Amino acid sequence: MSQKVSEFFGCMVFNDDVMRERLPKEVYKSLTKTIATGRTIDASVADVVANAMKDWAIEKGATHYTHWFQPLTGVTAEKHDSFIAPVGNCKVVMEFSGKELIKGESDASSFPSGGIRATFEARGYTAWDPASYAFVKDGSLYIPTAFCSYTGEALDTKTPLLRSMDAVSAQGLRVLRYFGDTSSKRLHTTVGAEQEYFIIDKEMYDLRKDLRYAGRTLFGAPAPKGQELEDHYFGPLKSRISAFMAELDEELWRLGINSKTKHNEAAPAQHELAPIYSNTNIAVDQNLLIMEYMKRIAEKHGLVCLLHEKPYAGVNGSGKHNNWSITTDGGKNLMDPGKTPAENVKFLLVLAAVLKAVDDYQDLLRISVAHAGNDHRLGGNEAPPAIVSVFLGEELDEIIRSIVDGTAYKAAGAGILDLGIPSIPTFRKDTTDRNRTSPLAFTGNKFEFRMLGSSQNIAMPNIVLNTAVAESFRQFADILDDAEDLEVAVAKILKDTFSAHMRIIFDGNGYSEEWEKEAKKRGLLNLRSSVDAYERFDDEKNIKLFATHGVMSRTEIESRKEILLENYAKIINIEALTMIEMASRDIIPAVNSYLGEVASTAAAKRSVLSGVSCAVEEDILMKLSDLNTKAYDALGKLKKAEAKAAKTAGVMARAEAYRDLVLPAMEKLRKLVDEMETMTSSEYWPLPTYGDMMFKV
Ligand code: ADP
Ligand code: MG
Repeated sequence: MSQKVSEFFGCMVFNDDVMRERLPKEVYKSLTKTIATGRTIDASVADVVANAMKDWAIEKGATHYTHWFQPLTGVTAEKHDSFIAPVGNCKVVMEFSGKELIKGESDASSFPSGGIRATFEARGYTAWDPASYAFVKDGSLYIPTAFCSYTGEALDTKTPLLRSMDAVSAQGLRVLRYFGDTSSKRLHTTVGAEQEYFIIDKEMYDLRKDLRYAGRTLFGAPAPKGQELEDHYFGPLKSRISAFMAELDEELWRLGINSKTKHNEAAPAQHELAPIYSNTNIAVDQNLLIMEYMKRIAEKHGLVCLLHEKPYAGVNGSGKHNNWSITTDGGKNLMDPGKTPAENVKFLLVLAAVLKAVDDYQDLLRISVAHAGNDHRLGGNEAPPAIVSVFLGEELDEIIRSIVDGTAYKAAGAGILDLGIPSIPTFRKDTTDRNRTSPLAFTGNKFEFRMLGSSQNIAMPNIVLNTAVAESFRQFADILDDAEDLEVAVAKILKDTFSAHMRIIFDGNGYSEEWEKEAKKRGLLNLRSSVDAYERFDDEKNIKLFATHGVMSRTEIESRKEILLENYAKIINIEALTMIEMASRDIIPAVNSYLGEVASTAAAKRSVLSGVSCAVEEDILMKLSDLNTKAYDALGKLKKAEAKAAKTAGVMARAEAYRDLVLPAMEKLRKLVDEMETMTSSEYWPLPTYGDMMFKV
């Protein structure tokens, strides 16, 4: 790195500094107001901003601009237009209008819409999100946008996210007013998403059709070594990995992404990157860019980055920890317990709001992380279980217990306020032991939602967190609006809420069988598969939640449910077809060739020396040939299951068929093939092994 980081950090971003420098004072003021309040921008202001953006982008080497959006495919989309405008005489000028900045039209007929956008109305439009900075990448000016149908329904993840941020802000402010906060104008939810990933050598990757088509290995016997020695976690970085990470950081820093932490993770060849947290919409955009750059920079180093939740069986998969909190525009974190009794009470109310939200909308939180890939992790003794619960730590547990029981909280320095609300002026941060099995853990001044899959867009989990907490705030504020005595009302809210939602608190081992039983007793949901989860998306209570806060309409929810189910079926279908191709064309023929060699060895031995022992050859022939026959049979069954599932009518029934017929058939085939791998000569085995993939980076 020839340049200092501080000199090039954010150099490709049209950020606040650039705006201040390049925009006329009035325009700058108007734009920052738009950003701070979430209002729409004036057309005249937009023209000036667009022009300044264009001039800046051209200096950075851009010739094109693109509205950058997040359709429901889970990845980002972009369509590039150049700035050129002909002016006659074979000449062009570079132009970019406010209209082009604010709104783009897009033939969106190939994006999933779950039936919202009839094909005769194939157009959709993209609308600028001024709160997420534009940036230059690969010769284009990227403008973060929301993506809607012509009838105004959201066709993306960004629109409901922005709406959910508005909702939690509006309802949260109503509550804060009762605590004397008259100055905050906006609440922001903040997110820091820790991203896990695997790295594999490109040469190995190219030899694995399963990785190329499905992103995960569909076959593969375990390597002699896995993660049992725990020597990879936080271990020294290999030089190739280190070079990749250094370049990744540098590119991310140019884009103004605060990539902060990097380290080796638990599984061999698994790593993590964590940025410094930012406002949620920006964190979502940045996480998508981080994933994109991980893949792109890896390629430059002859590597491939695997973002799948479970690339390899038998070792940990990858997730994403979504650290989340709520902050005022003045920078006050509402999840910070605070130093005075009044601040403590406010904190406890926020805590109550979160507990209530998580308990009332366990299903939505589970849905927000449901994904075919993530099904291999949740409940698999490596990630949180599929049961949603909250970890608070001993101290907060005791405080809550004392509120519920109406007893004094007996910790050093703690007193008791009027009305039985304990004051906790010495609340110590980070005294909590870190419970890695908890789906949602309070970690001192934020909640860490740990159920997310590594490949997923983090928008949906945050949409649910924001909206569900907005609903708690709404209910609290309604009570306070009608209260005669504020303190009495607050005390009652705390007591009632904690009493009603104690069941969602769990500090023990989330992997244990006892917890499953206990959770069942408590009436908590245990939605094992994505399909179980999706089914509940459009329950009336969920439709009501999103409608109340203007986050998603019934149509938007129903369409999303359909897309999720369809997507699930498509993913398993691709996996099944990949397995079928690999087994039919690569694996079974390879085993046959090897069997042929073993048979001819035995025949050759016998032709030289009658009575020679061919016990080894015979044993291999018997066992391997038997396995190959069984594998062939399992392959036939998988083909049938796939054909049946593909023909099943109705998205729900189809997704269920893939889960109940195809997945088990895949499992059976894999088991046989993996066993054959352990008996077939390496020379004949057509695929890189687990050992090759995980230990040869
Ligand atoms: P750990 O692995 O110990 O959980 P990391 O440092 O890897 O911790 O990640 C913690 C993440 O939480 C970082 O992205 C950090 O910026 C983020 N974070 C810290 N404070 C907040 C907050 N108030 N709101 C949201 N995210 C936060
Ligand atoms: Mg971490």
